[in-house]
Amino acid sequence: MCGLVAIAGDSSAVRLATLALYALQHRGQEAAGLVSASGGRLHARHGLGLVADVLPEEALRALPGRSALGHVRYATAGGSSIQNAQPLVFDHVHGPIAIAHNGTLTNALTLRRRLEARGAIFRTTSDSEVIVHLIARQKGPVERAIAAALRKVEGAYSLLFLTPESLIAARDPQGFRPLVLGRKGKAFVFASETTALNQIGAELVREVEPGEMIVVSKGRLRSTRLSPRPAKRALCVFEQIYFARPDSSVFGLSVQATRRQLGRELAKEMFGVEADAVVPVPDSGVPAAIGFAEESGIPFELGFVRSHYVGRSFIQPAQGMRDYAVMLKLMPVREVLAGKRIILVDDSLVRGTTSRRLCRILRAAGVRAIHMAVSSPPILSPCYYGIDTPQRKELIAAQRSLPGIVRFLGVDSLHYLSLEGLLRAAGREGGPKGTDYCTACFTRRYPTPLTDLRAA
Ligand code: SF4
Repeated sequence: MCGLVAIAGDSSAVRLATLALYALQHRGQEAAGLVSASGGRLHARHGLGLVADVLPEEALRALPGRSALGHVRYATAGGSSIQNAQPLVFDHVHGPIAIAHNGTLTNALTLRRRLEARGAIFRTTSDSEVIVHLIARQKGPVERAIAAALRKVEGAYSLLFLTPESLIAARDPQGFRPLVLGRKGKAFVFASETTALNQIGAELVREVEPGEMIVVSKGRLRSTRLSPRPAKRALCVFEQIYFARPDSSVFGLSVQATRRQLGRELAKEMFGVEADAVVPVPDSGVPAAIGFAEESGIPFELGFVRSHYVGRSFIQPAQGMRDYAVMLKLMPVREVLAGKRIILVDDSLVRGTTSRRLCRILRAAGVRAIHMAVSSPPILSPCYYGIDTPQRKELIAAQRSLPGIVRFLGVDSLHYLSLEGLLRAAGREGGPKGTDYCTACFTRRYPTPLTDLRAA
């Protein structure tokens, strides 16, 4: 997962893009970067760390131009070194070009080996650089070269390209990752999530359609299709469950409302479980817990207080101290919890190690019974489309039976939302249909060929 933003046609493009990147920080905290275009050149600033560290005011003064492209990175393919910080900037036969990518290509390694065999020299280990090499091998204007290159790649990509003359957006035919188009006055804006548009006072125009390429040049917008036939959609349902910010609208649906609906569906499926309070795991479990409480009539309680001041530099403590480390972030409220039977709501269960610690902390705070309620189905398989889920051997639901997980977590019962419940909540009227979603991490049904995995 990564966050993208681009603005074309505003004298404050660099500052607006930086502000928008703050709103996308949840999509990546390892690196940030910004590129602007002026005088036939691109000007870049990259660094490891948060937007505030990489793009302070004095850095922005060195980035002139009325167009800007920004990226926050969460490393999934290629590792987290500074060389992989995006936007990647290259000079090649089509002139200078910057690329920012959200998603992971599933045939990047195969293509890279082929390109290297023909003499290509790669500068980074990022899958996104494969696209640049493919573009460089195409003839004709840059947008035609980009379209031809994208027809060769498989997997997930929401992409933004900046050249001195144009801004280009493209989304893979399945539409795994979100990308929206907005307007601010006469300027065109693209962003991963609508919250970035709201941050800078831009209006949402529409989503960039799966399989669509949009070129903004000389104040005009042109839309083309990457391939003549539309593919079956595979929108990442995990964006709705966990990744996107609740104040965004993703794939046409309010994320907050969808998560609330997930909680309602879960409450219906858990009808009959007796409890005194519904307690969310902050922050991502909160909307689902609200929905659960509304549907079940069981009171909602904030049983944890979250500290926002735990730095990223916190060093993993020795075994035996780890419960205290979890409490640095989430402190239980004894007065709310002692003697209660609770429904503990979380959005997903990945390895189960943090949930196990939370349950120990809850028991120590005097909780009488813990019924764990997860607002997504069991995660059985890794994601190959840009979400950093661990390998199968680390996924608790792939390794243990339901009673085995109950024992591991130390809960009284465990309930996952069914796949049908998830697709009912995320496939509501006004948004995509349930069948428009990718659910491969729950079903192992991957919607594209996994070419690199097969070749490995
Ligand atoms: S495998 Fe899971 S996380 Fe990855 S794109 Fe599909 S739904 Fe999203």
